[in-house]
Amino acid sequence: MKIEILNTGTELLLGNTLNTHGGWFGRQLFAMGLRVARQATVPDGEAIHEAFGEMVDRADVLLITGGLGPTSDDLTREIVAETLGIELHQDEQALRNLESFFALRDKPMAPANLRQAMVPIGADVLPNPNGTAPGLYLPPRINGRSNCAVFLLPGPPRELYPMFHSEVAPRLRALAGVSDVAEAAELKFTGIGESDFHHGIDAQLADIPGLEYGYCARIGEVDLRLIGSPEAIAAGRDLALNSFGGHLISDDGSSLEATVVRLLREKAAKLATAESCTGGLIANRVTNVPGASEVFTHGWVTYANEAKASQLGVPMEILESHGAVSEEVARTMAEGSLRESGADYAIAVTGIAGPTGGTEEKPVGTAWLGLAEKGGGTLAVKVFHPRARKDFKQAVSQSALELLRRRLVGMG
Ligand code: AMP
Ligand code: MG
Repeated sequence: MKIEILNTGTELLLGNTLNTHGGWFGRQLFAMGLRVARQATVPDGEAIHEAFGEMVDRADVLLITGGLGPTSDDLTREIVAETLGIELHQDEQALRNLESFFALRDKPMAPANLRQAMVPIGADVLPNPNGTAPGLYLPPRINGRSNCAVFLLPGPPRELYPMFHSEVAPRLRALAGVSDVAEAAELKFTGIGESDFHHGIDAQLADIPGLEYGYCARIGEVDLRLIGSPEAIAAGRDLALNSFGGHLISDDGSSLEATVVRLLREKAAKLATAESCTGGLIANRVTNVPGASEVFTHGWVTYANEAKASQLGVPMEILESHGAVSEEVARTMAEGSLRESGADYAIAVTGIAGPTGGTEEKPVGTAWLGLAEKGGGTLAVKVFHPRARKDFKQAVSQSALELLRRRLVGMG
């Protein structure tokens, strides 16, 4: 069943409102064993004409969002009826629903709202308890132009989501008949790139019967997506783990920080952080994980040299002789935060985010990571992430959390 989505709204194309409907529909439909074939976004008004005409001739199901309001730019209902050659009539039930919506709120109904009770003849009215615009369902039998089933749905998520679950999903199930719900798995890896997968296992993944797979590259991370029967997914997972198991962050979609928090909990160990160039991002990521309070004690953001010295006891001589971005400073920051916090592990980062401040010896993108462990040695590692500031911070935080993860699982 070919499902297409048409999102309407000028604000979506101006960038004022992020179009979240596409992703949301994708997740709901996938969970029902259905897939989105195509999605288009058009501004309000006449642009809907052309997009609707194309899509209704191609798709089996078309989900349209937005443009059901009472204002002059809300034209979806009229355009759809006209394109399909169906008359609109005032629907008594829709009118009563509208009247009671306003009565309940003790507000007068504006005449413009009457348009929202106009319904293409033969369409189902989909009640909207959360707003004034009812949804509409035009089954294929009233569509004189193609065999497409058309849903007209409100734009605001608080109206759309409940209506999808109560009115749209049951109709989609009936239209689709029995569809197999595919399983999906997401394996996250770090320290390797998409091309490593391509050269390493792509051909073998392609040979697994019934397996659909794909990659998603993020900063310091590659996600491998597996879709198919449980057997096909297990075969894909085994193949990926045999080749790249040492780089696996998680096989259930958990983030690197969630994995680190879980590993610390399993060891009943505490963590502290001492950050310079990441400005607290590592602490932020760790504390985004529910249950972080069991493992996270302190996070310092020691940006200035004086702060590194006064808060963490990094000797001024070291800062002056080696520079703030150096192995010695990363080590002494990590050791200082371990000592001051009493935690079991401390990670420290110091680097040059740029765009200025680089030298030939320490170009922009250079960072030193320190990892100190109670009763264990201190490790310092240099990394190089020449990226824009925000991406640099993300990449350095990723490297630091990965350094800790490897220590926690006993890898080098
Ligand atoms: P509507 O009046 O039905 O066209 O939609 C009104 C409001 O719904 C907009 O101002 C947005 O806040 C929200 N909205 C509409 N379409 C989308 C979309 N594709 N993604 C997220 N929000 C949306
Ligand atoms: Mg709109």
